[in-house]
Amino acid sequence: MAKVERVKLLIDTIKGFHNIGNLANPRMANIIPNIVKLFEKDEPSDRTVLLGDCHDPDDEEFKMFPRHCVGGTEETKIIDELLIPFVKARGTYIPKTRYSGFFNTELGLILEVLNPEQVVVVGVCTDICILHTVADLRNRDYKVIIPRDCVETFDAPNHPANQHNQWALNHMHYILGAIVVDHIK
Ligand SMILES: [Zn+2]
Repeated sequence: MAKVERVKLLIDTIKGFHNIGNLANPRMANIIPNIVKLFEKDEPSDRTVLLGDCHDPDDEEFKMFPRHCVGGTEETKIIDELLIPFVKARGTYIPKTRYSGFFNTELGLILEVLNPEQVVVVGVCTDICILHTVADLRNRDYKVIIPRDCVETFDAPNHPANQHNQWALNHMHYILGAIVVDHIK
């Protein structure tokens, strides 16, 4: 197998965090074109993995967050703009149920097999699933790249998006050792 240089890890780039349901986030529109551009820069040796929320109808998480992304619903499907690039890249879709993409999934095993030089992390939310997945990537010593034009979070009372984006990016850079760049050239 050819050496895998780069795994592009898409986190929650699904309709339930974009335009359908209780956690639809209008700020997702800011990053979708940039993620599409990232696919255009794919090399033949790159791999794409999408981690998408996929909950039971009575998931414990709904005690904390409004009901979202129940398995089998439209909300768990990849957003329209990314579908064709994802299929062309022969991406792998891994359902997840919690903050970290490693919890109760095969992500760890898949990355062990691919053994990439670097993992580029994009999607939502910067301070939630991205943060916790990046922490677990760094616990395993993967080189992590985060293009800031490809990550977002949501605006809500007590949760100003810009502030939380900045805090999480600083934490992932200065504490977890991820490389934060403006965009992927
Ligand atoms: Zn969830």
